[in-house]
Amino acid sequence: MTTPIPQAIPTPSKDFTVTIIGGGIGGLILAAGLIRRKVRVQIYEAATEFKEIGLGLSIGPAAHRALRLIASELRGIYDSLVTTHADSPGYEAFRQTWFEIVWACGPNEGDILMNMKALPSGQTTVRRADFLDALISLVPREIVHFGKRVESFIEDEDEDGLGGILLKFDDGDEVRADVVVGCDGIKSKVKESMLVEESKLKQPRYSGMYCYRAVLDMDDMVQAVGDQRARVSTLYLGQGVYGISYPIMRAKKVNVGLYVLQENWDCDTWIRPAQKEDLRRDASKMGRYWEALVEYMPDSSQWALFEHPHLSTFCRSRVAILGDAAHASTPHQGAGAGQAIEDAHVLAELLADPRVQSTRDVEAAFKAYDSIRRPRSQRIVTSSKEGAYLLCLCLDGVGDDGEKFKETFEERMKWIWDLDVQGQVEQARENMVI
Ligand SMILES: Cc1cc2nc3c(=O)[nH]c(=O)nc-3n(C[C@H](O)[C@H](O)[C@H](O)COP(=O)(O)OP(=O)(O)OC[C@H]3O[C@@H](n4cnc5c(N)ncnc54)[C@H](O)[C@@H]3O)c2cc1C
Repeated sequence: MTTPIPQAIPTPSKDFTVTIIGGGIGGLILAAGLIRRKVRVQIYEAATEFKEIGLGLSIGPAAHRALRLIASELRGIYDSLVTTHADSPGYEAFRQTWFEIVWACGPNEGDILMNMKALPSGQTTVRRADFLDALISLVPREIVHFGKRVESFIEDEDEDGLGGILLKFDDGDEVRADVVVGCDGIKSKVKESMLVEESKLKQPRYSGMYCYRAVLDMDDMVQAVGDQRARVSTLYLGQGVYGISYPIMRAKKVNVGLYVLQENWDCDTWIRPAQKEDLRRDASKMGRYWEALVEYMPDSSQWALFEHPHLSTFCRSRVAILGDAAHASTPHQGAGAGQAIEDAHVLAELLADPRVQSTRDVEAAFKAYDSIRRPRSQRIVTSSKEGAYLLCLCLDGVGDDGEKFKETFEERMKWIWDLDVQGQVEQARENMVI
């Protein structure tokens, strides 16, 4: 059955509708940006409702600035949900701190190596589920189609000889779309149909690290590691292992993660159950804080961290990919969702550009998007992977040298955070040949 696309925006500014596949952070933010700019949107989401696992998410200053540019209310929403260090009475002085970096073990165990600032916002964290719930409020319910998992697409012509994209769903349904943006995450089906041969060669790959994750009550956290370590976001540096903790939910809870280097992942699934003993063994290399902390972690599952090899392009014809579908990264710089947000801003601005009226113009917009967003997001995939070695004190040229660590870490994060987000849009506009 072929279902026509319902038209939801009353006064559209364009001759086309953008069909977004996937309603995660990237898909919803792109939808909000396009709707704000009067571009018609439809969203197809595989899940039967919008959902996110209840862990924390932290975005850096560049993505934070991009939120306001995409839609002013987006920034308001994010800011109304964030937890900052000022949510803990007595810790207001840490308002601009991103993380305190602490030696987990060794001769300096427990010492603070540096107070890393993220200016001007400092650490801003949200509970993913809360952020997604709030994003949903920006998207009219009637443009969202749940329980629709895209299997593949083909480009073809309709009865009138007009080109289009025929989306095929796993329930046998088909939908014709003018233009498609795949925001369907690291296992993207849109990407597989868009780059058939390349996708076979470039499957998501295990990054050489797995992690344990948990959300703990602040009281338990204070009990385990003391007040300052519980309330101030902390990166714990270890040999071959690193740890992270940051307060969420107005400092009532703390998001924690323990990241372990391990060359191979000999399991078919990306999450595997493990025993408390496994967690204890990994934490035993991490000094007294983590020895205490793991006793409060309710789940010992191990999460393999995957990343995407660099693709040769983020678009083909009238189809583009965005966020993890295009450049899934390891989380060691806290920048994956931020990249999806930056992508969404550049793409929304290009598609709303007055020169882009027809589907043919969209092809030019997609190429311009690719030319600007691919180099940056792929560099972040690479530097995030190196970031794992940096935090595990084994990056070539740095190792466990504290001074070199500070210099390297600051330089890397500055590159991510100091982006002129609107400048990327203007460069992309210049690259757009219509
Ligand atoms: C442990 C960990 C910690 C992280 N921490 C941070 C952090 O602190 N800060 C940060 O910026 N980033 C972080 N990230 C990265 C961040 O989570 C991702 O980059 C971000 O969620 C990507 O958003 P997305 O919308 O592109 O994809 P996703 O969030 O994966 O959303 C994809 C959506 O598409 C839907 N979908 C999938 N397949 C189909 C299909 N075939 N048809 C229709 N719909 C489909 C899914 O149901 C989902 O709703 C972390 C990642 C990990 C693994």
